[in-house]
Amino acid sequence: MIPFLQKTLYSLADLLLPAICPLCGKNNIPHPESLCSTCEGEILLGRVPPLTRTDSVPEILSCRFYEGAVRKYIKELKYSERHTLINVFNKIIYYFIEKDEFFSHKIDLIIPVPLHRTKHKKRGFNQSELIAAILSQALNAPSLSYILLKTRRTHSQAGLSREKRIKNLAGSFAAGNIETIKNKSILLVDDVITTGATLDTCGSVLLRAGVRSVRGFTLAKVA
Ligand SMILES: [Zn+2]
Repeated sequence: MIPFLQKTLYSLADLLLPAICPLCGKNNIPHPESLCSTCEGEILLGRVPPLTRTDSVPEILSCRFYEGAVRKYIKELKYSERHTLINVFNKIIYYFIEKDEFFSHKIDLIIPVPLHRTKHKKRGFNQSELIAAILSQALNAPSLSYILLKTRRTHSQAGLSREKRIKNLAGSFAAGNIETIKNKSILLVDDVITTGATLDTCGSVLLRAGVRSVRGFTLAKVA
């Protein structure tokens, strides 16, 4: 079918058929960029993990445990093209900024954990940049995605121990434009933390480049 016609028919179908929640696949949703109230409620009321500490990043705040609806949501965010689903986390992020002591510390710059450029190109976006953009607006601090670079593609971290992950990541990140970050307090942002190896590796690259401090923020933490 001609792509234009196909697109038009899909748009018509969107108008005529009630949209279904991408997480549970059962309930109708009010608009295409939302979840059903059951799934959204599960995310809003999810369990909050304790702070994580690594060698180079003394405090990492994660909003929710990576489980249930949160887990499905983050996968949907990453592997579908519906970037605006990130807005489901707006309320939660703003809640933490208003209520949590973590945000009483000064933050000069926000830096998202980068993807390797071939992965970025393939996916079309970096989910960490989406999260960093919300934080940037809420904290009135710039988010800079050109400071940290993933210079080498690495094997999937799934199933690896913390030691193996650190080895796998060694030398795979670099910092550029380091004059911009000298003596700055950095908030490093990723979508999910598992062992903390990625944030720790990025944190040590930033510290070596001369930043004052690095703290971390993720949407979710693997229990
Ligand atoms: Zn749902």
